[in-house]
Amino acid sequence: MAATSHQRLLAVGTKIIAVGRNYAAHAKELGNAVPKEPVLFMKPTSSYLQNGGVIEVPNSLESLDHEVELAVVIGQKARDVVERSSMDYVSGYALALDMTAREIQATAKAAGLPWTIAKGQDTFTPISPVLPKSLVPDPDDLELWLKVDGEDRQRGSTKDMIFKIPFLVSHISSIMTLFEGDVILTGTPQGVGPARVGQRITAGITGLVDVQFDVGRC
Ligand code: MG
Repeated sequence: MAATSHQRLLAVGTKIIAVGRNYAAHAKELGNAVPKEPVLFMKPTSSYLQNGGVIEVPNSLESLDHEVELAVVIGQKARDVVERSSMDYVSGYALALDMTAREIQATAKAAGLPWTIAKGQDTFTPISPVLPKSLVPDPDDLELWLKVDGEDRQRGSTKDMIFKIPFLVSHISSIMTLFEGDVILTGTPQGVGPARVGQRITAGITGLVDVQFDVGRC
């Protein structure tokens, strides 16, 4: 599906806050416990890549892992907002990939070090145009999918998120002020795996948007 007049490019905010292990089946596939409170980490806005771009694999690696995720786009400043009104601060949604250098992340995790190098490099956050929330009546019931060279890799429903969007917006806003254009990546369903140099990733939210990215070199 091509971008329509209903979609707009992301107005870059101040940050990307990503939620780790927000689907039980994915936590399990990487050998992690299901968390009792959200696991949060950050990615720089310099890691965005618009639809149709090339995901750049560092020369020291052969592949990056794909993680297909629903991105929640913040529409106005939010600080300490309560859960029952937190959706008023959301302006839209997008489909994003949280690209991950899994070997680098594994080494960092084992050493108790941050994930910045594994998650934060240029092109590591491919993202679709933004869908206004009026087009997404129920963000808790969306099918996310991802294919590599046409082969099904990930297919899951946002119904299976452990921590739901209203809670995440409220919780994160109690830690740091959210600004217009900030993005929350809500975690990935199961099926993560490598996309190698020369392959093509297609992904989407069923019935709403789809995207395509080639995997290449810097
Ligand atoms: Mg992720």
